[in-house]
Amino acid sequence: MTYLCVSLTEKTTEQALAAMRSLPSEVQMVEVRLDAMESFELNRICSAKDRPIIVTNRPSREGGGWNGDEQKRLETLREAARAGADYVDVELDAAAALGELPPGVRRIVSYHNFERTPADLEKVLRAIRAAGADVAKIAVRATDICDVPRVLSLLARHAHEGPLIALTMGEEGVAGRVLGAKFGAFLTFASLDEDARSAPGQVPWQQMLQMYRLPRIGPRTQVFGVMANPVGHSMSPPIHNAAFAARDLDAVYLPLKVSEPGAFLESFRPWGLRGLSVAIPHKEAMLGLMDEVDELARDVGAVNTVLIDGCRLRGWNTDVGAAVNAIERAARRAGLGPASARTVLIVGAGGGARAIAFGLKRLGCRLIIANRTVSRAQALAADVGGSARGLDELEGLEPNVLVNATSVGMWPKVDATPVPHSLLRAGMVVFDAIYNPIRTRLLREAEQAGAKAASGVEWFVNQAVEQFEIWTGTRAPRELMEQELRTRLSEQQSSLSARAPDAAH
Ligand code: NAP
Repeated sequence: MTYLCVSLTEKTTEQALAAMRSLPSEVQMVEVRLDAMESFELNRICSAKDRPIIVTNRPSREGGGWNGDEQKRLETLREAARAGADYVDVELDAAAALGELPPGVRRIVSYHNFERTPADLEKVLRAIRAAGADVAKIAVRATDICDVPRVLSLLARHAHEGPLIALTMGEEGVAGRVLGAKFGAFLTFASLDEDARSAPGQVPWQQMLQMYRLPRIGPRTQVFGVMANPVGHSMSPPIHNAAFAARDLDAVYLPLKVSEPGAFLESFRPWGLRGLSVAIPHKEAMLGLMDEVDELARDVGAVNTVLIDGCRLRGWNTDVGAAVNAIERAARRAGLGPASARTVLIVGAGGGARAIAFGLKRLGCRLIIANRTVSRAQALAADVGGSARGLDELEGLEPNVLVNATSVGMWPKVDATPVPHSLLRAGMVVFDAIYNPIRTRLLREAEQAGAKAASGVEWFVNQAVEQFEIWTGTRAPRELMEQELRTRLSEQQSSLSARAPDAAH
């Protein structure tokens, strides 16, 4: 089992003890970072601790906050050991100088590289073990997601020889922090909250426990994730992890910041990868990397769902059906006639617009594509057999369905809207691909005009439901997934608004 250890960067002894006591028992250890503290009383910390503690006093040369005398620094570690710390963390280059520790105190010998994942991790590990480590720790920066499997491979080969902590730092390394548990890591670190990370890429403990279900992860856990760039604000990890938990599946879903899809697939596949959501900007490139693709994905020219089926990579496009279903549901509510008798105005000509246009074309709708860059509208219109125009040529159109497939109106610019108000009429359907915010200005105005509004939330949930069912062969818990999305969106909005209160205007 891999322990979950929260790294505390509180300023005082009092705050550190209070933070420790606030943690649930599933957090089996805490690390007290003396180098982040303004003052500390080691005797009090060690006598009042309520679970095993690691005491660390990281010097600035290894990315820590201690800039003082080296002998004094090592003395704080000896003092911590005498006071009753369970583990003392000493850097590889200072391990010899630290000297013996009292019996029962375990020595973590650590190596950090904040720049990159060095070539010879085995050599580093040998040096750490030779320096008398009870626990070896290697924390390296993943500059590319392909660095993660290199660290997982180190764990897979050496974790059985003795306690080993090996993790990847940075946004590209998040998967490594979680997947260490699959490959026998002694522990993984988490932060106390979003704002108290002691190293880049650290995940708050609540996410480790509730979203990634760390205690559940083991050798047989199947790995899924969303490959995107950027990936930080993706809503897919909370939704899919909640669905796996609801169906009690031994699976975890991770954010995967990928720059080069081919290299990523090659390096990650052997490490338990079972399925992928594919997001911007990789949907088109993934098409060419599949062994098998469904007809719709081939028609649209984009793959957003991958199943790794033995040695075959199988691709689907769940965006198309998901958007069409959301629009059709609103069309039924609005009492619109058959799709073949409808005129649909799609504003936008990017990846989302393309998926929607292909889906609606299959239903026989007449399509008008309008876009800021008219040449892109023309290219898409030529592909789907519609007409094209610029955004200044919308007056007078009377579509039955209006689709916004641009990012206009998305958070934080929530006061923006992509079309003139005069286009909105009673009885029509207005579908906004945007899901953040859930009710855009366009949708509010559409409802005021008597139109039936459909939000991008439904699209997002529909495509996630279909992905889940492709990967697991199990019915997806749709309502729970939608609820999870709505909760996370409102949490994200409150936290973004708190950080940038003026950004929305
Ligand atoms: P994309 O490929 O980057 O296309 C962006 C589109 O927005 C282009 O047509 C672009 O016009 C237009 N645009 C951007 N800024 C604009 C502005 N200031 N004024 C006018 N037009 C502007 O992105 P995408 O993947 O198609 O996504 C488009 C929207 O759909 C996003 O809001 C995205 O969140 C949403 N979406 C939602 C889901 C879902 O599941 N709900 C799925 C996919 C996409 P130019 O061509 O002139 O640059």
